[in-house]
Amino acid sequence: MDGFSAKVLAWYRHHGRHDLPWQVADPYARWLAEVMLQQTTVTAARPYYERFMRRFPSVQALAHASLDDVLALWSGLGYYARARNLHAAARLLVDRHAGVFPRTADEWAALPGIGPSTAAAIVAFAFNIPAAILDANVRRVLSRYHGVRGRDAPTERLLWSYARTHTPTRHVAAYTQAIMDLGALVCRKTPDCPTCPLADGCAFDGAETPARRPPKPERAVYMAIITAPDQGILLVRRPPRGIWGGLWSLPESAALAALPATIQALGFEGALGDPAPPVWHVFTHFRLSITPVRVLRSARLAAVAEGCDAMWYKGALPGPGMPAPVRRLVNQFLEAS
Ligand code: SF4
Repeated sequence: MDGFSAKVLAWYRHHGRHDLPWQVADPYARWLAEVMLQQTTVTAARPYYERFMRRFPSVQALAHASLDDVLALWSGLGYYARARNLHAAARLLVDRHAGVFPRTADEWAALPGIGPSTAAAIVAFAFNIPAAILDANVRRVLSRYHGVRGRDAPTERLLWSYARTHTPTRHVAAYTQAIMDLGALVCRKTPDCPTCPLADGCAFDGAETPARRPPKPERAVYMAIITAPDQGILLVRRPPRGIWGGLWSLPESAALAALPATIQALGFEGALGDPAPPVWHVFTHFRLSITPVRVLRSARLAAVAEGCDAMWYKGALPGPGMPAPVRRLVNQFLEAS
């Protein structure tokens, strides 16, 4: 164990997180948690993790569930490709490996949705096997401590080599949690260097703290609110790929003028009401404005609608998997009608 990891471990004993529900030596729990924690904070992921474990307590339960049920439980957590990959990986593990979990990072990384850092974290936590991680928190600590800047391939290789050098051969699970916690709790975007165990020897000079990021580009979408007495609001399933892939949403088009054609393609006709004020949803790379538009006096052209992947939703819980902003819109309209 080098001085770096010894300091991080000593700090962790008193200041790290020891009571997270996934801190158990169970590969299924660790895998689920690590996937949920990709792009999601501990606070946001925790209630989803607890619901997920209650509903799908084993890889077999997850593999035998429908994708719809998995997406419904994931609804609101975002980055839905994670849920689709989790489900696909569970089926692979059960169908091809009899539900037996791999014990090497390379085997985990061969499963859908698991990158090298996630794979390493799973084996370190579940089996205490030495494996270096480099998630966003760890990357921030290592790049500041070693004075490394940039995101090109040589920088990436250098950071991975630091990650491997500092990963001890003993107490790997504790060290992995410790370095994650240090990045999340101390070496944050604005670092708390006076409380950091690595302050002695850290090369950080404050220079890389980002000033102002350029604003995200904006996209717009118009969503049709088609209602029917006693049936609720019409939802359509989104294509399996792309944003919110496989989730249930409102019929949409990128331009208001194109919305009637969207509605007709689903087998409906009707006059468009005035667009309601848009709601905004922020993705990693852009901001999306969603403008709901009520379809007045909608009528169904039955022959055209047959075969489309659509359903009526009346607000029953838990409901199908919907993107969080769409679920809010749908609930608002259902409550108002
Ligand atoms: S001393 Fe400051 S910049 Fe360096 S690792 Fe610690 S918190 Fe991060």
